[in-house]
Amino acid sequence: MKSSVLLIYTGGTIGMHTDPESGALVPFDFNHIYEEFPSLRRLEVDIEVLPFEPIDSSNASPELWVRLAENIRDNYERFDGFVVLHGTDTMSYSASALSFMLHNLAKPVVFTGSQIPIGVLRTDGRENLITAIEIAAAKDSKGRAEVPGVSLYFQNRLFRGNRTTKQSAEELSAFASNNYPPLAEVGVSIQYNHTYIARPKAGAQFSIDTRLERDVAIVKIFPGLTESIFRAMLSSGIKGVVLETYGAGNAPTKEWFIGALKEAIAKGISVVNVTQCSNGEVNMDIYETGVALQKIGVISGRDMTTEAAVTKMMYVLAHEHTPARRAKMLKKSICGEFGK
Ligand code: ASP
Repeated sequence: MKSSVLLIYTGGTIGMHTDPESGALVPFDFNHIYEEFPSLRRLEVDIEVLPFEPIDSSNASPELWVRLAENIRDNYERFDGFVVLHGTDTMSYSASALSFMLHNLAKPVVFTGSQIPIGVLRTDGRENLITAIEIAAAKDSKGRAEVPGVSLYFQNRLFRGNRTTKQSAEELSAFASNNYPPLAEVGVSIQYNHTYIARPKAGAQFSIDTRLERDVAIVKIFPGLTESIFRAMLSSGIKGVVLETYGAGNAPTKEWFIGALKEAIAKGISVVNVTQCSNGEVNMDIYETGVALQKIGVISGRDMTTEAAVTKMMYVLAHEHTPARRAKMLKKSICGEFGK
């Protein structure tokens, strides 16, 4: 029997073509995807399209994530897999958020997009779209989805969604997963790396949980950061901070810096430490500059991306209401967002 895939179109470069009248790039109507892209009919997959009002993903928000989660839930039984077409700019944030919001996902939710519009001859969108659909439809010998969970497919590689980051505004290989190996590599055939693909517990019921706390911030430290600016960043009703530090999780040991963080933590603000480096992980045991953070209750984000850390913060703060319980949940891997 043919597999079925729901293609949810949210916008971004992939859905653009040249307007015959103005010559400008405009979003095309995804209901006409087969006219734009007739070779899709040749796939041995039943595809249904669910177009949202297209947005540039710079305008993505938790409302979009909730809408995606609800549409996946409402269509969960009808389809074998889901492909989400999304602008590349914030795709890693959306894939990370969805990984926390969709529980016991036994089916694939594959995010993809493109650097060049699908209506342009040299587009990378055609291959990304076709292979994402193939992966979303793929079953193993036991009839289970090859790659359950939220993933991101781009330029011949499939990654765990919450381990990705957009690494290039120019290269067609726009995404990287620096701390976790690809789930699949695509050449003449699709090679699945089964060791790295996580599966939900057998029989666990799929559900969604869309509660997210919005009062969070990402604070990137830099040499020259002043006390007044830092204190301003930690004020105004903030409940959680993702602190982007140097190297293996190091930050200044200046009294005012540690003092400001200590006061924030004493007020109940959760602080998670991630590194500004594109690979490697936070280890607050190595240098004095990291030990000082650990002592005052800063939580290690280990090898998490900033995208995963901030969406996890939104999720955790909406679910746990005491600093101790929040810290406990932030230290755990919820859906493979850190660790090996
Ligand atoms: N600005 C676009 C977006 O993220 C870029 C893209 O789709 O590649 O929606």
